[in-house]
Amino acid sequence: MLTSGWKAVSMVDVHGKVTFTLWLCGCNLKCPFCHNWRIAGGKGCFELERGAMLEELEVNSFLIDYFHVTGGEPLMQWAELSSLLASVKALDVPVSLNTNLTLVGPLEKLLNAGLVDHIATDLKAPPAALYGLPEEASERLWRLFLRGLELVSNYGLPLELRIPVPKGFDVWPWIEEGLGHLDTEFYVVLNPLVGKPLTNPRDEAWCSAHCWPEDEVRNLGERLDELGIEFHVNRWA
Ligand code: SF4
Repeated sequence: MLTSGWKAVSMVDVHGKVTFTLWLCGCNLKCPFCHNWRIAGGKGCFELERGAMLEELEVNSFLIDYFHVTGGEPLMQWAELSSLLASVKALDVPVSLNTNLTLVGPLEKLLNAGLVDHIATDLKAPPAALYGLPEEASERLWRLFLRGLELVSNYGLPLELRIPVPKGFDVWPWIEEGLGHLDTEFYVVLNPLVGKPLTNPRDEAWCSAHCWPEDEVRNLGERLDELGIEFHVNRWA
């Protein structure tokens, strides 16, 4: 399977948890703010040395809360991922999957096999602006994302619901719709979109118009607060 590497001990990939994080290549979206677009496009990727990685995981397993697999979109390589996660579970290490939740068929296979203990996902809104795809495709993918939220709820998995916050859009209608499809333990992480010099986004022109939000973050925080929803803000400085 194609990877861009792993980190044995990470404190920044799942809120409040220590993870062993693996990055897998490929993605079905083209988010303009994406700073992992090289991984998403398969650039600089190489074949995972599975044995070496599992050995390092086993050595570090006493330190970590989750084996966290991210990307890119890990479910692009779901068949191999399924076999890898079975090996991780054999080490008695809980699994956290970061997915854009649009590949619901593969997701269901992994959940059905009991290979995932925690999900992290981005609620990207407005989809037509944040998915980086034509409007019709974005609308279809948004419906799949909502189905993905229902699936996670059906399996009762805890969820880290990340919301990338762009500048210049009212994203609340989509957040409300997403929350309506969620019936499991979750908290929200607001991720204000950032561009250069902190990150290297796929589309710099898009990012100069829509990264570095200010009022939008405060407004969303207030609305989540009103609903009594636990949330955290990833500050860029
Ligand atoms: S932000 Fe995530 S879902 Fe979007 S293109 Fe990048 S890796 Fe794919």
